[in-house]
Amino acid sequence: MKIQKRIGLVAHDNRKKDLVEWAEWNWQELLKHKLVCTGTTGRLIEEALLKKITENSQGNEKLEIVKLKSGPLGGDQQLGAMIAEGKIDILIFLWDPMQPQPHDVDVKALLRITVLYNIPTANNKSTADFIISSDLMQQEYHPIIKDYSGYIKRNI
Ligand code: PGA
Repeated sequence: MKIQKRIGLVAHDNRKKDLVEWAEWNWQELLKHKLVCTGTTGRLIEEALLKKITENSQGNEKLEIVKLKSGPLGGDQQLGAMIAEGKIDILIFLWDPMQPQPHDVDVKALLRITVLYNIPTANNKSTADFIISSDLMQQEYHPIIKDYSGYIKRNI
């Protein structure tokens, strides 16, 4: 991954407030990167960051944000596909530990693919804080992905 990271942002409804607060707190760092969000999360993050830009603008900040479909409508799967294609470097995913989701299987698939491709993933604000304040955010970084060539060539 390059110095400019492609950061996935997702929050379930009961966690959206937390993620928006986190994004507001870290708005200056987030503006250095490209953001890719599920639909509703993206709308809220965009509103919050545009407000920050308007309030504090030097006139040169630019928000790069992509809004995918809403999570339950396929947005989680779109993000997972982007991770598999090497198009997402970091995932901040505040999922709700207290409420079942209609798209539970998609959530599980997204979390699985982050492990498979070894991308830094935060599922709570503390981990998100550690990631965003890491020196590695300002450097190129190449996560080691396990070699699956043996699996691909397996005899069946
Ligand atoms: P949303 O999707 O941002 O569109 O609400 C998040 C999710 O539930 O995965």
